[in-house]
Amino acid sequence: MAGRTIAVIGGGVAGIAAALAAADRGAQVTLYESLPQLGGRAAGADGIDTGRHLVLSCYRDFFRLLRRIGSDRAVELHPLVYHALAGDATRTVEFPGGEGRHPKLASRLLAGSLLPVAQRIPALAALAQTTASAPGEADDGTLAGDGRTRRIRITGGGPVTDAWRRLHWPHALVARFGSPLAAGIGNAPPHAWAAGPFLNALARVLDDPDPRAGWVSGERYGTVISEPARRALIEADVDLRRGEGVRWVERVPGGWRVAGDRAERFDRAICAVQPARLDVLAQVAEARPLLRAAARVSGRTILTARAHVYNLAPRHGPHGEADPPHAFWFAEPHPDGGVLLERVISGLPDENEPDPDEQRRAFQHGARRWFGVEVNHGEISARHYPSATPTLAPGGPRPAIRHGPGLFYASDWCATGLPATLESAARAGFLAGRLAADQSTTNTVYSVSR
Ligand SMILES: Cc1cc2nc3c(=O)[nH]c(=O)nc-3n(C[C@H](O)[C@H](O)[C@H](O)COP(=O)(O)OP(=O)(O)OC[C@H]3O[C@@H](n4cnc5c(N)ncnc54)[C@H](O)[C@@H]3O)c2cc1C
Repeated sequence: MAGRTIAVIGGGVAGIAAALAAADRGAQVTLYESLPQLGGRAAGADGIDTGRHLVLSCYRDFFRLLRRIGSDRAVELHPLVYHALAGDATRTVEFPGGEGRHPKLASRLLAGSLLPVAQRIPALAALAQTTASAPGEADDGTLAGDGRTRRIRITGGGPVTDAWRRLHWPHALVARFGSPLAAGIGNAPPHAWAAGPFLNALARVLDDPDPRAGWVSGERYGTVISEPARRALIEADVDLRRGEGVRWVERVPGGWRVAGDRAERFDRAICAVQPARLDVLAQVAEARPLLRAAARVSGRTILTARAHVYNLAPRHGPHGEADPPHAFWFAEPHPDGGVLLERVISGLPDENEPDPDEQRRAFQHGARRWFGVEVNHGEISARHYPSATPTLAPGGPRPAIRHGPGLFYASDWCATGLPATLESAARAGFLAGRLAADQSTTNTVYSVSR
């Protein structure tokens, strides 16, 4: 319906995608973002630099978003090679993709040095069973807020480690390969992730006909996401309210009242803030179960340590430490020459309160051991900050979510596919924007259950 008024709350990747999708369909869109810049966690919300982001060639909607805002060329993709850093060894796994079901990965498991001989056949069987049992991605019609679906059943929920057990993944494979891979693909610690979405992600990556990876670099967010999005939104006539936080959203007859600096009425509202920050909905009775769930899944931290080094060749592809706490290493050219080397641990429980000095020492040790470089203690910047990508805790909440008619919810947390990533955020945003602008039905009550 042309001229429908839509409020989008939150200007992260999901909110940007939602606002553009709705505006492109003729809706009058107002986007509220409480921070001065757009981009949310991808750009470092609250002034925090959330580090470089891994982007895979199987991301579809995120690239669609980059194309829409004119910055797709800013991401360079390279063959996806995964290095598991285990003990004194480095195990390298390439993701061949292509026709058929990852034949090269299977032959690697059989013939490579990844596993002891006795574990190879069970590994192959486990891999086949895993891909066969990975629930397919929900299509758009069954995602939250489609106006028809009242209940969405999430299959395969539970920690990844349980899934490996259930699917008989050999211990050696999990120890050397599974856990860090889980951390990389799901952007979450392997023991605190829902298996269903993770298996979706794994299947998507393994089936990718063009398996490559790239980075959206921390130093380039402004040019890759924030600024291009700002220009594209203004061109699309979106009323952009940066620096304007929404305090609450309230159902009124035929629409929604959104209260920021002023209270305004809209036909539809799209909530694109992460669950932990859904305090904007605190006064909406239907949102309370979601708020409770969000309170239980937050309270995690991210750690980064980084240094600018000159005597190291840039490397491509993720490097994951196989031993807990499953750190991730990134090495990429620095604009001033040399390489920016970074170690990231996401999803640590808050109470760990790691000591930054200890992190610097761990960084020095890892840099020497795996990358062969000496880094001075004083040149390493270590950060520890809260609010990681929300994850579903083991045996954790299965949120019952109820929304009123005309309220859509778009976040990396609710879309399937590659969960809690730039891809799922873009996917959820496009979907919510399209549905909010197009749908004639007003029945958007839905719930999520096991
Ligand atoms: C350290 C880290 C590393 C990551 N690494 C990767 C990676 O390698 N690859 C990958 O694909 N993904 C990665 N992710 C995940 C990715 O960043 C997120 O999935 C994605 O950015 C989420 O986008 P979003 O729009 O759903 O939410 P957000 O980015 O959280 O956007 C929500 C926006 O809403 C705003 N907001 C909140 N409350 C209000 C309010 N009351 N009023 C108005 N505005 C409000 C916030 O300021 C924010 O801008 C990483 C995340 C983190 C934190």
